[in-house]
Amino acid sequence: MRIGFIGLGKMGSAMARNLLRAGHRVAVYNRSREKAEALAGEGARVSDSPADACRESQVVMTMLADDRAVEQVVFGEDGVASALRGAVHVSCSTIGTALARRLTAEHALHEQGYLSAPVFGRPEAAESRKLIVVAAGPGELVDFCRPLFDAIGRQTSVAGSEPWQANAVKLCGNFMLASMIEAFGEAFATLRKAGVDPHVFLEIVNSLFASPVYESYGRMIADEQFSPPGFALKLGLKDLRLALETADECAAPMPLASLIRDHFLSAVAHGQTDLDWSSMAQVLARNAGL
Ligand code: NAP
Repeated sequence: MRIGFIGLGKMGSAMARNLLRAGHRVAVYNRSREKAEALAGEGARVSDSPADACRESQVVMTMLADDRAVEQVVFGEDGVASALRGAVHVSCSTIGTALARRLTAEHALHEQGYLSAPVFGRPEAAESRKLIVVAAGPGELVDFCRPLFDAIGRQTSVAGSEPWQANAVKLCGNFMLASMIEAFGEAFATLRKAGVDPHVFLEIVNSLFASPVYESYGRMIADEQFSPPGFALKLGLKDLRLALETADECAAPMPLASLIRDHFLSAVAHGQTDLDWSSMAQVLARNAGL
């Protein structure tokens, strides 16, 4: 397939590379051009603008930091919305449900398709094609794009026929992960004060919960290894805010999400913005006087 891929950060670079490996023709665009040029040796065509990446593409995928970046790239000058000409936009970024509804409406006005397809998995999972893709939108578009999802991930779950439903799933998933970081932070702080090595506790947790996310996050937090960040804390805070906005839209209180959002804010206040989001556990350690 002919693909345009926009946003070559930690996640997007790996995803674009896997699309190339799967034999797709990929035109890449990134705000900082050197990240696009790094993929030229692997067969990508380097584009000069988002519109240039849309030229001749059947599907244009975006993997950008946040709502603002997606709005600029899609609706800004030389943006995707006016250059797509009937092709399909697949947004893989973790964005808010309100923006997903706006993208659906604006693309419909231009008679072009739109899917939300956010992903679970950190950059290592993106490199090794182990992402979990959550797709939502019209069934025929999901079927059309399925070979692309297969090229970047190990599983595709379909959340519904409205694109924003996939974003709601992704935000609730990240809320669950943030809750796990909160729980590790509280338990480790208590145990360290009780004189117990968190690594001993982690052995028990891994046996009780047997989950790769408990194992990897538990190790990072016990080892206090928060740099370089796989997923930056500022992006984690963004996701808690977006989850709360969706909860607000749905009139479904998420009191735990409110508490955790405040703990992320406290982490920002202590200069942790660019550390991994698992470093939020340090807020609980500080609260315990550690
Ligand atoms: P990242 O490494 O910070 O990359 C962000 C990308 O967005 C870069 O390509 C950046 O361009 C671009 N960008 C930011 N602001 C822009 C703007 N105003 N205009 C144009 N481009 C802009 O982030 P990431 O970790 O790859 O995350 C990307 C998305 O995936 C986020 O929505 C994140 O929540 C989600 N996600 C991340 C993970 C993870 O573990 N990292 C997992 C699942 C989902 P430059 O290179 O020029 O800065």
